[in-house]
Amino acid sequence: MAERAPPPTYDEAVNNKVPPQRPVTVVVEQGFAPFPQRMTCPSCHCPIETRVEYRPNSNTHLIALLLCFLFWPCALYPYCIDTCKDALHYCPECGTFLGTYTN
Ligand SMILES: [Zn+2]
Repeated sequence: MAERAPPPTYDEAVNNKVPPQRPVTVVVEQGFAPFPQRMTCPSCHCPIETRVEYRPNSNTHLIALLLCFLFWPCALYPYCIDTCKDALHYCPECGTFLGTYTN
């Protein structure tokens, strides 16, 4: 709690005024892994482990379509495995979107 060293930025000042259920998008230009990562949230400056949500991307649909033609019982398989999807990283404390891992 005491090591809140960085001075408040404009974004931080704005974030303190918006309700927590309306997270402000902060895109961090760094590589993300397809699993939860330890980092410091750029919005609330808490040491966090990112919350990951997996979303199907265009590759997921493409693989599913190919499997549909090749062997249709496997067509839904890409939707079941997380490595075929985008990994969206969020801060578990303030809900800020931090970045995406794309296959
Ligand atoms: Zn945060």
